Amino acid sequence: MTDAWPGALVVGGGVAGAAAAIRLRLLGRPVLLWERERLAHHKICGEFLSAEGVVHAQALGIDPDALGAVPIRAARLVAAGGEVTRRLGFEARSLTRHALDAALLARAAALGADVRRGVQARGIGEDGTILSTHGDVRAPAVLLATGKHNLRGLPRETAGTIDHLVGFKTYVRLAPAQRAELSGHTELILFRGGYAGLQMVERDMANLCFLVSRERHAACNGRFDALVADLAAEVPHLARRLEAAVPLLDRPLAIGGVPYGYLFKAGRDPPFLWRLGDQAAVIPSFTGMGMSLALHGAALAVRALLAGDGTAAYARALARDAAGPVRRATLLQQLVGEERPRQGRLLALARALPQILPLAVSATRLRMKAVRRAAGTG
Ligand SMILES: Cc1cc2nc3c(=O)[nH]c(=O)nc-3n(C[C@H](O)[C@H](O)[C@H](O)COP(=O)(O)OP(=O)(O)OC[C@H]3O[C@@H](n4cnc5c(N)ncnc54)[C@H](O)[C@@H]3O)c2cc1C
Repeated sequence: MTDAWPGALVVGGGVAGAAAAIRLRLLGRPVLLWERERLAHHKICGEFLSAEGVVHAQALGIDPDALGAVPIRAARLVAAGGEVTRRLGFEARSLTRHALDAALLARAAALGADVRRGVQARGIGEDGTILSTHGDVRAPAVLLATGKHNLRGLPRETAGTIDHLVGFKTYVRLAPAQRAELSGHTELILFRGGYAGLQMVERDMANLCFLVSRERHAACNGRFDALVADLAAEVPHLARRLEAAVPLLDRPLAIGGVPYGYLFKAGRDPPFLWRLGDQAAVIPSFTGMGMSLALHGAALAVRALLAGDGTAAYARALARDAAGPVRRATLLQQLVGEERPRQGRLLALARALPQILPLAVSATRLRMKAVRRAAGTG
């Protein structure tokens, strides 16, 4: 049997889905949200929340600092030949997705969204009904926020994206001296076949997240510990950081086939379907902008939805703000890529020209003016 829901059906309770639910509830609209996981959970993410994401979170009534976020003020680029450290030019935060996503969903529920955990959407019926493990629903607006997971019948058009990397994330307890050196920094560590991000999060844990080519992963027989040992053997900096480190997760989280550089186009989906978050745009992970983009897109989508503007207007608004950063970040990833000589040249350039890193950082971000406008705070 199919139920008719009079408001928005949000599928997926990550940052994008929860943010959209909060915004809709703040404007008094009925919201039904399905999140397939029963409980708050870890997610694969470097957990760098850029200043733009902080503005969006605060506009939703979430204070990252109250959740234990730690400040990040500088970036350290590490590659063959050494390292270089530069101030970011803004204050970012580092916060586990476990804490952030749970707070966002709790806020949506507190505002009156009907949040149903443990409900998994299974696909879309011919008449637009959304099928789930707990019954099917028809709604005038469906906000698809399932992140990397495509819903059956609604694939993303990802031709031409960079999708050959395998991602991993784990937490480690670093030795005190390493923790002190890392504090306040996000480290981008380049190696043959990919890169790693390392930074402190709350409760004195360090987030180690990396993307590596399938070939290099396969060469380590697909074993995480062998891969980490292999990377540490190549990059002395990583070996030093991880010396005496204690793993905090039983198993790392893993992901494959993320379509970096993807930006959705309206017109291919049914008119009631709004793609949010990674379903709408995927910016290379080294930028630490995925969450900000997801929060930003959710704000733009809700505005277009309530104004009756349609998904084409939303797609245009998202492209206006996000196409530049996504394109430049994807180009940078292609240029510097996974080859050590190119990575070494980037490091040399960043050393010789102090403005290069801040320029690259700024070129791959949303403009703060656009963020404040979308967040409703500027
Ligand atoms: C290796 C890596 C490192 C990254 N590092 C950073 C970083 O440092 N900073 C940053 O800002 N971004 C980073 N990102 C990007 C960021 O994680 C994503 O852009 C962001 O999570 C997108 O949010 P979302 O809400 O679209 O998806 P998600 O956060 O993935 O949420 C999707 C939700 O939908 C639920 N779901 C999925 N399918 C269904 C279904 N069928 N039915 C019901 N529920 C469903 C899932 O359980 C999940 O809770 C990184 C990504 C990767 C892969």
